[in-house]
Amino acid sequence: MKYYVGIDLHGTLLNDEWQIAEKVRPQLRQQLDRLRKHCLFYICTGNDLTFLKKYVPDEVRSWFDGYILETGCVIGTEDSETIGIPKNQETAIKELEAKLKKLNYPQIKYFARRLITISMFTRDEHDGVPPEELHEIVSAEVLKMGISEEVLVTYSNVAVDIIPRGYNKMTGLQDVALENRTVGIADSMNDWHMLFDSDYSFMPANASKRLQDVLSSSGRRVKHLDPELKLKRDAAYISDKPNTEGVIDILGVFAEHLGV
Ligand SMILES: [Mg+2]
Repeated sequence: MKYYVGIDLHGTLLNDEWQIAEKVRPQLRQQLDRLRKHCLFYICTGNDLTFLKKYVPDEVRSWFDGYILETGCVIGTEDSETIGIPKNQETAIKELEAKLKKLNYPQIKYFARRLITISMFTRDEHDGVPPEELHEIVSAEVLKMGISEEVLVTYSNVAVDIIPRGYNKMTGLQDVALENRTVGIADSMNDWHMLFDSDYSFMPANASKRLQDVLSSSGRRVKHLDPELKLKRDAAYISDKPNTEGVIDILGVFAEHLGV
């Protein structure tokens, strides 16, 4: 039995400048290597492979076993993206994307390249607005169009994402993990399923307040990550360190938990 560890990108592996600072990379590698006998590591993101290659350095990518892309709808390797959902959903998604582009929402900086989902960035690495307001507007629009049964409108800390309903980062992680155990490390509302359903759940200090509230009220209580406490599968643990440093802290505590 192995642990398949899904690590989110924005707000988790990447810092506020959309980077993995060079000074913390040796510690990140050390903790990943410490767990490697027991764990496989997947970057779990709403983004695609192009984005991942632009923002995650080659060196860091080589420490991972694969990628869950487009919020669980695409499974990626270093040189392939495989759509993990029925291809016929593609036409409907592309039509919806074209309609949304015509609406010219001022909050949107750009529509990112996607194979089977839609991603509207309200932020880039320099500036922008939080995606919450756009999320409400787009959710209302999708409801008005009468397609809210077909798609889920969600958001990260940088973008509003539209996903064919029934798919999320957890379904993607499960596609690779099969019978094995799962671990989620993430910060935003589009990570909700992964943090709610993984065997072990963790968040960096900057995790969305709304996400924490929703997890707690759904029965997965949010607790401070305390190396002295035994990790339990009915809680979600929050580190007191943000993004990349939070991931390093979390991996260290999980390694202690496994006794490695
Ligand atoms: Mg995130």
